[in-house]
Amino acid sequence: MRDLRVSITDRCNFRCLYCLPETEEAANFYRAKFDALRNPQPFALRPIRYDWKPRSELLTFEEIERIVRVATGLGVHKVRITGGEPMLRHGVETLVARLAAIPGVEDLAMTTNGQLFAAKAEALRAAGLRRVSFSMDSLDPANFRKLTGRDGLAEVLAGIELAQRLGFHPVKVNAVVIRDLNDHELEALAEFGRQRNLSFRFIEFMPLDSSRAWQRELVVPGREILARLQARFDLRAVDASGNPAETARRWAFADGRGEIGIIAPVSEPFCGHCNRLRITADGKLRTCLFSLGEHDLRPLLRGGGTDADLAARLVELVAHKEAGHRIGQPDFVQPARTMSCIGG
Ligand code: SAM
Ligand code: SF4
Repeated sequence: MRDLRVSITDRCNFRCLYCLPETEEAANFYRAKFDALRNPQPFALRPIRYDWKPRSELLTFEEIERIVRVATGLGVHKVRITGGEPMLRHGVETLVARLAAIPGVEDLAMTTNGQLFAAKAEALRAAGLRRVSFSMDSLDPANFRKLTGRDGLAEVLAGIELAQRLGFHPVKVNAVVIRDLNDHELEALAEFGRQRNLSFRFIEFMPLDSSRAWQRELVVPGREILARLQARFDLRAVDASGNPAETARRWAFADGRGEIGIIAPVSEPFCGHCNRLRITADGKLRTCLFSLGEHDLRPLLRGGGTDADLAARLVELVAHKEAGHRIGQPDFVQPARTMSCIGG
């Protein structure tokens, strides 16, 4: 295990319909397409109420720093700060500075929806953040709003530009691809990546949405994404043999600017070489995105456990990491917690 993802808040300023939908109507976006006959009643427009974790349950910066320090002592060297939306956590740049100062942290990154990035960008860079990944599923303002529940496209575009200007590298952009929602934008998104010299990642829609609206029919398989992009662009496979835990199959544009990556956990699982661990904002260790169980580290952290106790607990839990997810198997059960809680 080399890669630790730390969610620092379960809250978000966006309402992506594949993650934290705003209304029942948004949550059930797929039913209009597949279940119209069985569900003739329109879904309610009223907001869905989310019960955010109280502050006292969230890990403090000291606790996060301690977990990261102990984990790096055990061999973790990549750390990604995520959420929810990490920009919403007050003082996030202070946390970045603390994590960047831990000797074993060779690679510190953050995933953000980008809307609030500009205000913090310089402070984050100064604090030692080197890499940032943005999430942007559409280049069309109306479709962006449909997918995220917010009018934030202009701010996200400005955030990406600013990140490049400030020297974050690489700047990655992730798009979740959902059939009939944004798959018509595949080529436009890839072209945006090529023109801006970005690392653009297309991600299959996973069953981690809070509304449990996921259906296999909505997943655009990685192979289909690739075939579409190969029909439009001259793509050269990037050799990733140096990084066996790479989750994306990567392709460079033949004219040398930018690259695309395809992450296909549903249609082509890569569980066998997964080297990731996740900590939720409230201090639960998850050994797989799709784990049905999670392990609370707070009793140790808040109950006088030593660093050696914490290290022993991490080792013990990692030994029981799942062999793989079971999406597509008859016994698959969607985890109770969603991507916004687990940290993507
Ligand atoms: N709020 C930040 C953001 O959106 O970048 C960070 C947290 S978000 C949960 C991390 C990543 O998870 C995003 O790139 C998002 O697109 C992805 N994600 C969320 N729900 C997903 C789902 N059901 N399937 C695939 N990816 C998902
Ligand atoms: Fe928020 Fe990120 Fe989930 Fe969208 S994907 S609702 S931005 S946590």
